[in-house]
Amino acid sequence: MAWWSRKNKATELSSEKRSVPTGLFVKCEGCSATVDSEKIREALRCCPQCGHHFTMPTEERLALLLDEESAEEQDLEITPRDPLGFRDTKSYADRLVALRRHTGQPDAFRSFLAQLDGVPVSFGVFQFEFMGGSMGSVVGEKITRVFERAAAQRIPAIVLSASGGARMQEGILSLMQMAKTSAALQRLRAIGVPYVSVLLHPTTGGVAASFAMLGDVILAEPGAMIGFAGPRVIEQTIRQKLPEGFQRAEFLLKHGIIDSIVPRCELKPRLGQLLRLLRGELPTTPTTAPTVTPPTTSPKSPSEPPVPPQVP
Ligand SMILES: [Zn+2]
Repeated sequence: MAWWSRKNKATELSSEKRSVPTGLFVKCEGCSATVDSEKIREALRCCPQCGHHFTMPTEERLALLLDEESAEEQDLEITPRDPLGFRDTKSYADRLVALRRHTGQPDAFRSFLAQLDGVPVSFGVFQFEFMGGSMGSVVGEKITRVFERAAAQRIPAIVLSASGGARMQEGILSLMQMAKTSAALQRLRAIGVPYVSVLLHPTTGGVAASFAMLGDVILAEPGAMIGFAGPRVIEQTIRQKLPEGFQRAEFLLKHGIIDSIVPRCELKPRLGQLLRLLRGELPTTPTTAPTVTPPTTSPKSPSEPPVPPQVP
């Protein structure tokens, strides 16, 4: 018997021994507690004990963020092909058919014109359930169109990324999407229309190495893994142990790669506030006398410029 067969059998045995029925309780990856899956769903797929963010299905995410009945889905007519006739254990064409049936979507990205917290936006979200959110020609084209619509209508662009990177089944055509999306974004930037990038777990490979990291503001969900290559590949390449928490959102925030970590339950109001600030509107709260500067961090913050000495 080959070693992988033995391993599979061992996995099957261990899964049979599970005392908690699948679907009723889940073990939290954050705190190892056994939590009622219904309670997790009610808490927007977050652990009620430690706040660990579980993966959220795309449909639930859309319902959470976009204003009710405001979303008009775009680019539904674009569907993927198999330009290289790619085949591994299964042909790419067959994989696409199976995934389309399983997810009900033609590819791994969905684009919308919608309102978010009352602000019109050109919005896009990765459908991670479709081939790990990998970016092929269709995903790249749809992202480009999100930016182009934002430019044409002069409304902010928001893209929520969750991707394993470029789609190997489309080879070089997938890699070209990195340049294509970045160029579209540059045109958006040239006319001064903002783009907010939201990084979900995981955002890696060619997506992280292009438009996902080019946001005017970059937000991330707590604990999201964000990076180009995976930690195991990096460790093998540089032959060094990586620091704890490497490539997690908290690590990236500490090192200045992203702007803020926003818990899922706060994402919609925070995005709305951010969009209004970028539009030049002053915050509506607090209701005290209006100020000309946006709220800053504590005066003791290390980023605060030093106060010049007072001359008597
Ligand atoms: Zn937990």
